[in-house]
Amino acid sequence: TPVIGVLALQGDVREHLVALAAADAVARPVRRPEELAEVDALVIPGGESTTMSKLAALFGMAEPLRERIRSGMPVYGTCAGLIMLADKILDPRSGQETFGGIDMIVRRNAFGRQNESFEAAVEVAGVPGGPVEGVFIRAPWVESVGAAAEVLAEYDGHIVAVRQGNVLATSFHPELTGDHRLHALFAEMVRAAG
Ligand code: GLN
Repeated sequence: TPVIGVLALQGDVREHLVALAAADAVARPVRRPEELAEVDALVIPGGESTTMSKLAALFGMAEPLRERIRSGMPVYGTCAGLIMLADKILDPRSGQETFGGIDMIVRRNAFGRQNESFEAAVEVAGVPGGPVEGVFIRAPWVESVGAAAEVLAEYDGHIVAVRQGNVLATSFHPELTGDHRLHALFAEMVRAAG
């Protein structure tokens, strides 16, 4: 059985561990390069992407992570995790760096102040059984994707789910709902990559 890590520098790590277990995956937190080396795949949680970027550098995780993603490790990022997987951020804070992995340009906090958090039904390509309940919390959207990236979902005319090869990213937080279909989709990607 493949082991899926959850990057545990910052963010909603525990919720992802629970969701992965519910999707019949073996999951554990990952903080250090030695722990990263022992997992087959990784989830990058929601949280705060500038903080996550700084902590990744501090813990010596940024380069090892870029290297694993480049060499094909399956990764799934939610919200701040989606931002970390973008090759480019539109409005980076100073010193903010991403791991990259998806040829896309991301706008942070895009869904705006007047409506910082909301839930909406989102139809996701490849997820059977009807729309998922999307929880958006100061969520980013994807401004544009390159040719290699596949748009899996849009909400209100904006891209909110993308896949490129073994890298999956959503603007919303399925780990905060009881619906584990996106984690199941990711676990399936991980098994297929193994
Ligand atoms: N706005 C946050 C950021 O820019 C993301 C919020 C979230 O992960 N819920 O990192």
